[in-house]
Amino acid sequence: HFDVVVVGGGSAGSVLAARLSENDDRQVALIEAGVAPTDPDIAKPAMWPFIQGRDYDWAYETVPQPGTANRIHPWPRGRVLGGSSCLHAMAHVRGHPDDFAVWAEATGSDRWSYDGLLPGFLRSERFSGGASELHGGDGPLPVWLPDEEVNPVVRAYIAAGHERGVPTLPDHNGRNLNGTSPNSLTIRDGKRVSVADAYLTDDVRARPNLTILTGVSVHRLVIDGNRVTGLAVTRDGRDETITGDEIILSTGSVATPLLLMRSGLGDPDVLRRAGVECRLSRPAIGQNLHDHLLGAGNVYRSSQAVPPTKLQHSESLMYLNAADITEAKGVPDIVLGCVTGPSVSESFAAVAPGFAYTFLFGVTHPSSRGYLSIGGPDLHDKPVIDPAYLQTDHDRTTFRRALDVAREIGSAQALTAWKAEELLPGPGVRTTAEIDDFIARAVITHHHPVGTCRMGKDADAIVDADLRFNGLDNLSIVDASVIPTITSGPVHAAVLAIAETFAAGRR
Ligand code: FAD
Repeated sequence: HFDVVVVGGGSAGSVLAARLSENDDRQVALIEAGVAPTDPDIAKPAMWPFIQGRDYDWAYETVPQPGTANRIHPWPRGRVLGGSSCLHAMAHVRGHPDDFAVWAEATGSDRWSYDGLLPGFLRSERFSGGASELHGGDGPLPVWLPDEEVNPVVRAYIAAGHERGVPTLPDHNGRNLNGTSPNSLTIRDGKRVSVADAYLTDDVRARPNLTILTGVSVHRLVIDGNRVTGLAVTRDGRDETITGDEIILSTGSVATPLLLMRSGLGDPDVLRRAGVECRLSRPAIGQNLHDHLLGAGNVYRSSQAVPPTKLQHSESLMYLNAADITEAKGVPDIVLGCVTGPSVSESFAAVAPGFAYTFLFGVTHPSSRGYLSIGGPDLHDKPVIDPAYLQTDHDRTTFRRALDVAREIGSAQALTAWKAEELLPGPGVRTTAEIDDFIARAVITHHHPVGTCRMGKDADAIVDADLRFNGLDNLSIVDASVIPTITSGPVHAAVLAIAETFAAGRR
C-alpha cells in the first residue's frame, strides 16, 4: 500500500515520481507497463523516425480519416520507462503566452496561465544558454540550443525567412513565438535525454520511499463508492491489486481515457457496446481529441549535396501569423519546419536522400475535434481513435495558406544556391482543388494528441483546476490529456510544466 500511486512512467509520470518522492514522509509508487529502455537506437537523435513500431511502441492507429483521403494514421506512443519522451523528436517549444491564457480562462485559475506555469517551465530545464528570467539553468532536463551544428540548408531557410521579413527569435522559449530559430533540443552530448533519464536518476531511484514497478500493466481502476481503492494489474503474468490513498493517472492522451472507460467511466452507450458496465456516466471522456498535422511535404530537389543532419533532421520551426508573416506579436496561426532531407507521407514515392530538403507546413490551432474510445473491455482491445482531421473550413483554409507560405519561403533568393526544382506538390498543383487534394494526401501527425480529459471549471470538464477527477475523491490526472486546447507548438514542454506545477502544489 502506498500514499500515492502514479500510473504511467512516461513524460509526466517520471516528473511526478521524482518530485512527489522529494518528501520522504510520502510513499510513492510509479507503475509502468513497459520496462527500462534497452534499444541503443533510442539515444541516437537522428534515429527517432526509424524506431517507431518497435516492441516498446503501443503503435496505435486512427480510423480512416475522410479529411485525409481516407488514410489511417499510425500514432506511436512509448511503452517504456520514459514513455513517449523515448520516441519523440526532442524539440522543446513552450508555446505562446496566449495559448495558456485560454487554459486559465477554461479553469478560472491563473496557475495555468503562462506566468503561472513559468516557474514549472524553469524548474524543469537546464538551458544551454544559462539561467535567466525566462530560462532555468539547473533543472533536470537539458535544453540545448544548437549553433554551428545547424545544417547549411537550414541556415539558408532561416535566411530566406529573414529576407521575407520573418522575425528572428533567439530561441522558441521566450514570450514571442512568431519568427524562426534553430530548434531547442532535449539532447546532451549528442544523445537523447528522456524524461526518465533526466528525472529518475540513480539518486532518485535509490530513495527508500520511491518504488518503481516496470512491466506492470494496469487494466482498470477498482472503485468503491466515490473512491478508487486500487488498481487491477498484471505483474509477471499474475493478476494483482495495487492499493494507494491517492491515484494519479499519467498514462497519456490515448491511454488515460481508455483506462477510465475500461473502469466504467464514460459514455454509457459506448461502454455498453464495448461490453463494460457503466459506473459513472461521463460522456466527455475521450471527447475534444485534437492534434497537430504537418504537410509532408513541400519537397525540393537540391542543386548541391545536402549534408546529413547532425541533429534530428527537422532542425528549425518557423511560427507565423497567417495574415502577415512579418508580424512579431501575438499567437501564430501556421508553422513551417525545415527538414534536411526528403520528408513525404506514405502517399508519395520516396525521394532519395542526399539531394533534397523539405519544408513541413502546418496549422498551429486546428479547430477540428474528434473522439477516442475503447473497442472492448480489455487493455489489448484495439481502441477507436478518430481525431477528425481537417474537418473544419478553418483548418483547410489555414493549411492552404501554410503551403503558400512554404512555397514563398522556398522561392526566396537566400535559397537559390540550393533550389534546383520543387518536387512536391510540384508546379502542376495550383488550383484550390489540386492543393486540397495534395494536402489531404500529404498530412501526417505531428504526434501531439491532447485534450481527451480536459481541465476546466465547467461541469463537463474531466478534471478541475487542481487536476482532480470530477466525480471521484482520490483520483487525479496529470498528463497531455488534460490540455484543454493545444499550444502553438510541440506539447512536451507544456506537459512537463503541468506535472511540475501539479507537484509544486503537493509539496
Ligand atoms: P507518455 O509520455 O506517452 O506516457 C504515458 C506512459 O504510460 C507510457 O510510458 C506508457 O507505457 C504508460 N502506460 C500507458 N498505459 C498504461 C497502462 N495501462 N498500465 C501501465 N502503464 C501504462 N513533443 C514535443 O514537444 N516535441 C517533439 O519533438 C515531439 N515529437 C514527438 C514525436 C513522436 C514520435 C511522439 C510519439 C511524440 C512526440 N511529441 C513531441 C509529443 C510528446 O512526446 C508527448 O506529448 C508527451 O511525451 C506525452 O507525455 P505523457 O506523460 O502525457 O504520456
